[in-house]
Amino acid sequence: MKIYMSGKLVEEADAKVSVFDHGLLYGDGVFEGIRAYHGKVFLLEEHVERLYESAKAIALDIPMTREEMCAAVVETCRANGIVDGYIRLVITRGTGTLGLNPYLCKVPEIIIIADGIQLYPKELYEEGLKVVTVGTMRNNPESINPRIKSLNYLNNVMAKIEAINAGVMECIMLNNQGQVAEASGDNIFILKKGVLKTPPVWCGALDGITRRAVMRIATDAGIPVVEEVLQRYDLFTAEEMFLTGTAAEVIAVTDVDRRVIGDGTPGALTRDLQERFREYVKENGTPIQAS
Ligand code: PMP
Repeated sequence: MKIYMSGKLVEEADAKVSVFDHGLLYGDGVFEGIRAYHGKVFLLEEHVERLYESAKAIALDIPMTREEMCAAVVETCRANGIVDGYIRLVITRGTGTLGLNPYLCKVPEIIIIADGIQLYPKELYEEGLKVVTVGTMRNNPESINPRIKSLNYLNNVMAKIEAINAGVMECIMLNNQGQVAEASGDNIFILKKGVLKTPPVWCGALDGITRRAVMRIATDAGIPVVEEVLQRYDLFTAEEMFLTGTAAEVIAVTDVDRRVIGDGTPGALTRDLQERFREYVKENGTPIQAS
């Protein structure tokens, strides 16, 4: 596999960062997870825009234009013969000293990995996920804003540990007001009385690219979509529930804290949106091979 590292494609064995890189020492950096479908990089410009906004929020200047970044992603996919895959774009603060001072890190490290995709088991899509609410609260937006897709994912990792310890694969994270924020690595939607609802990002969610796409798809299909503060009660009494994310796409949730959602199987709207999403990815990507 060829890895893009700060301007060059190098062999995987040579793709190494310094032990003084602040991405490693402090989780100081930002990243994106992007999918390629049918030879196209899905919503590449939107991902790159979010990457630059995350970087801006942590005062990290990426020494490349957005256009150059898009071109580098496509080039890395091409070099690895990617048709359907998963791309990880990582920007670290770069090599510094053992101290915190980020200004001593002179050059951010830019890493692009274009790999195959590891899908969740097919049964999960047919049966739906069981989830639990966890005690680890989502980062306070005035501490580390969850809109920043930073390399510091300890908040999410600790929530994931709780989920796995409880025997499930995903969890619901709440904010410090007890409002629903998101899952450990996905956004949340519910259906209630014909209206699709998702928490506003200020409740403590990443502004997910899949979330945005699903909101557009639903709106185009004439399904009302609102951003609304949700409490656990709203999840327990939802008619349908699903999660969205680059890796998970659209996946039904059929059980929250042992409350069965709907009839306990993926709901009709969830299945309809999964189908529409499959079509949407065909139309909305940047071609990897020059035409
Ligand atoms: N929330 C969190 C915490 C995430 O890490 C992700 C991405 N895996 C998402 C939501 C979903 O975002 P996207 O649709 O952009 O992948």
